[in-house]
Amino acid sequence: MTPSGSTAAPSPRALTLAITSRCALRCRHCLVESGPGAGPGDVPLARCLAVVRELAALGGEEIWLTGGEPMLHAAWGEILAHCGPQRFRTVGLQTSGHLLGEDQVATLRDLSLEGLRVEVSLDGASQRSHDLVRGPGTFRRALDGIHRMARAGMAGRVVVAFTEMRHNLAELPQLLDLADGLGLQGVRSSTLLRGGRAAGGGQVEPPAPEQVQALLARYHGDGAFRALYDELGRAPAIEWWKGRGHRGGEGCLPGERPYLAADGTLYPCALSRAAETAVEGALEGPLSASLAVARGRWGALRARCAGLASPPAACRACPARSSCAGGCPARSGADGGSPLGPEDRCDLRRAVHGWEGPDGVAAAPSRSPFADPPGGFPC
Ligand code: SF4
Ligand code: SF4
Repeated sequence: MTPSGSTAAPSPRALTLAITSRCALRCRHCLVESGPGAGPGDVPLARCLAVVRELAALGGEEIWLTGGEPMLHAAWGEILAHCGPQRFRTVGLQTSGHLLGEDQVATLRDLSLEGLRVEVSLDGASQRSHDLVRGPGTFRRALDGIHRMARAGMAGRVVVAFTEMRHNLAELPQLLDLADGLGLQGVRSSTLLRGGRAAGGGQVEPPAPEQVQALLARYHGDGAFRALYDELGRAPAIEWWKGRGHRGGEGCLPGERPYLAADGTLYPCALSRAAETAVEGALEGPLSASLAVARGRWGALRARCAGLASPPAACRACPARSSCAGGCPARSGADGGSPLGPEDRCDLRRAVHGWEGPDGVAAAPSRSPFADPPGGFPC
């Protein structure tokens, strides 16, 4: 059994730490249903700092501060500064960009954190698409924040986080142009998950199968887009197509990148919300103690992701099974289904699997720093 095939939960390589449950926005697709007065509020500073140190002692290489909106936490800068001496490879901040004013950008610059990465959410390349999801004026503010980062010499620290939806998927090429023009690190796409505030559908929906096929056709037919994508992008459908010759299950394993919510619940990853994988009270004691409890609860998920367990029954006759292998179990459980069932994007995966593109276009591996390994589960 390879190390990645082990079903024992490992020490985390990365931790996503929600330092507050609050947010200034109330987005239509928010998985954690954040908003101005949401949840328990801010995680006490001392606890945040302790978690940072514990992660480093466990050998963690990455830490991501999230929320809610992490920049609403009065001590967000202090927490980031505390990450510096721990020698993480990546110290990330996931933000809506709503609060990226001159002072905040100066704080980020003055931290001089070598591994700093600031993920700013843009749900489209137009005000219309973004504001539909996040509220009036939010596109302008996020874009202003990105421009401030660029003027401060930190464009290369910025990644655009793009949630692909039916109304905005066609804007991915413009987002890549934006990233290229400003010298940003790239655009990391993920597919809308019908969970949290998006559970009921409504105005935000995941992309349709014909849209992802249109994206593949563009990737193959438009050399300039393809070159830019390979340099700066990471979109699930294109990565699935590139990895179609690989067996699924070569990507992340539950527990390698756990998520610690502001209410102290530990999950195997940031998309996972299934009650059976949750470990409560993780802010009340050492992280290692919660991880020890988690080992027992995450084993079945890890076995599935490592290809050591049978795929869900619904997958056995699926034409996409050879490359999908049941998909991402965190997504399976986040929309109210079983984490051991098929994931929520079967229609998209089958559309990609069945797409017959033109011959003669060799797919280059993505060079973006956040590309997944072939056969992974881009989420
Ligand atoms: S900015 Fe992020 S945390 Fe805040 S409501 Fe929107 S999706 Fe949720
Ligand atoms: S597309 Fe759906 S049914 Fe097919 S293998 Fe993937 S998760 Fe299973």
